[in-house]
Amino acid sequence: MSAVVKDWMLVRGVVFHLDSSLPTEAKILLEDFRLAVNNAIRAGLQARVTSRNALCKVAYKDFREQHPRMYAQHLVSAFEVACGVLKNHRKRVRKGVTCRIPYVKRLMMKAENQAYKLDRTSGIIDLPIRAGCHVKLRLVVSQYHRKYLDDMALSLGSLTVLPDRVIVAFRKNAPQQFVPASALSLDTNERSLDGVFVEGDVAKAVRAEFPNIAIIQQRHHDRRKRLQKKKAHDRRTSRDLCGREGTREHCRIDYRLHQVANSVLRFAEDRKSAIVLEDLKGMRQKRSKELNRRLSMWPRRKLHQIIEYKAQWRGIPVVKVDPRNSSKTCPICGRIQYSRMGTEFKCHCGWRLDRHINASINLLQTAISKGMAGGLRFNPGAFQHDVMMILYEPAMAARSEPNGTSGVVGVT
Ligand SMILES: [Zn+2]
Repeated sequence: MSAVVKDWMLVRGVVFHLDSSLPTEAKILLEDFRLAVNNAIRAGLQARVTSRNALCKVAYKDFREQHPRMYAQHLVSAFEVACGVLKNHRKRVRKGVTCRIPYVKRLMMKAENQAYKLDRTSGIIDLPIRAGCHVKLRLVVSQYHRKYLDDMALSLGSLTVLPDRVIVAFRKNAPQQFVPASALSLDTNERSLDGVFVEGDVAKAVRAEFPNIAIIQQRHHDRRKRLQKKKAHDRRTSRDLCGREGTREHCRIDYRLHQVANSVLRFAEDRKSAIVLEDLKGMRQKRSKELNRRLSMWPRRKLHQIIEYKAQWRGIPVVKVDPRNSSKTCPICGRIQYSRMGTEFKCHCGWRLDRHINASINLLQTAISKGMAGGLRFNPGAFQHDVMMILYEPAMAARSEPNGTSGVVGVT
């Protein structure tokens, strides 16, 4: 998979805050748009259609009369959003989940790229409301935003307007992946990525540690449980509070995952490394409920998603291999050990190594044996046992949190 020419569009949504609050006309537009989306959802359900074109045919004429003031492009875009909702709804129905008729509560609107103008120098969006009425939205532009605005290789996609911010989609053709000169193989664990970096005849252990993520997960889990108990008599409050806990948890974990991913990708880009990861698909074995939650796959899957997506954006090759037996195999003699071991992998042939790093060596060997690592070679005997390169550790994080959850006390 590594050197295949890929020719598709990559899209990245960039969030901008507004310089001042949304003009009244735009607020009204958001409300009209939401109304149009909800009407379109009902029309779609009634006529049993889910494609945008079909929906247009069924409902456009009525809609034009119901929403005479709305810019035609926005109306079509409302159909598009409704289609997305309808598709999800249909999927749920097909799965047999009982659900109500979907209703969009959030104020939002989406404009396709021909339905708005963004001046990339000044950061001002010109959004048409109706004939003869446009509003200007001035964006707050930071250095991070400049990277996207000034890069003319990126074209503009859709614009999503929310009451307090907008999301601009930037698009580009997937860049050609570089030919790897080295490999970075990583075994994904609950608190760290452990692996091996191979360049020429040299192989060294690498590690990216993120113990905070498991701690944050645990804390939020405990807090949610407490809330559920305390508010057992009031399900609505309980649901709202738990939902808020969940959102906060996701934000905090996301932030850390992005940092870990960025440091891994920076390393891989600097040394022209192919990244080898285990394929986490279908890796849910039967475990007790508690262990299952503690070992929940989502942060790890999410981390892989972030790494893969960012690697694509930057042209870094990523190879995913089947992790079967990777933690039980000796890379020297190939013997498979069925008993669980401690933190160290020991083999009868004398090979000993940290269990996780050993797994990453096996992942790399699988990738190489399947020809997925671009002609790289690796000899486990060349592994330097005394060197450990740290790709990331929490101390490298720029932001600390004052509420104490970022500390490493009270690990459970
Ligand atoms: Zn062995």
